[in-house]
Amino acid sequence: MGIRDELEAELTVGLTRCKVGRFLDTLPPDDAAEIGRIFSEGKYPGEAIRRVLLKRGFDGGITVMHRHASKDCCCVN
Ligand SMILES: [Zn+2]
Repeated sequence: MGIRDELEAELTVGLTRCKVGRFLDTLPPDDAAEIGRIFSEGKYPGEAIRRVLLKRGFDGGITVMHRHASKDCCCVN
C-alpha cells in the first residue's frame, strides 16, 4: 500500500472510529467483543479496565475510554 493510500485509509478510519474503537480493531474479535460486553456491563472501574488495556497496547486516556464506553464517540455516529 502506498503512502497516499495509507493516508486515505487513516482518514477514513479516523472519521468512523475513536481511539478506543481503532484499538479494539487490532485485537482478536473475541477479545474485542468481551471488552464491548465489559463496557456495557458497567461493572468494573474505568481506570482498572484502562490499565488492562494499556498492557495490551492501548495508549489512550481515560476520557476517550469513558466516551467510547458510554457510546458518546464517533464509533456510533
Ligand atoms: Zn469509540
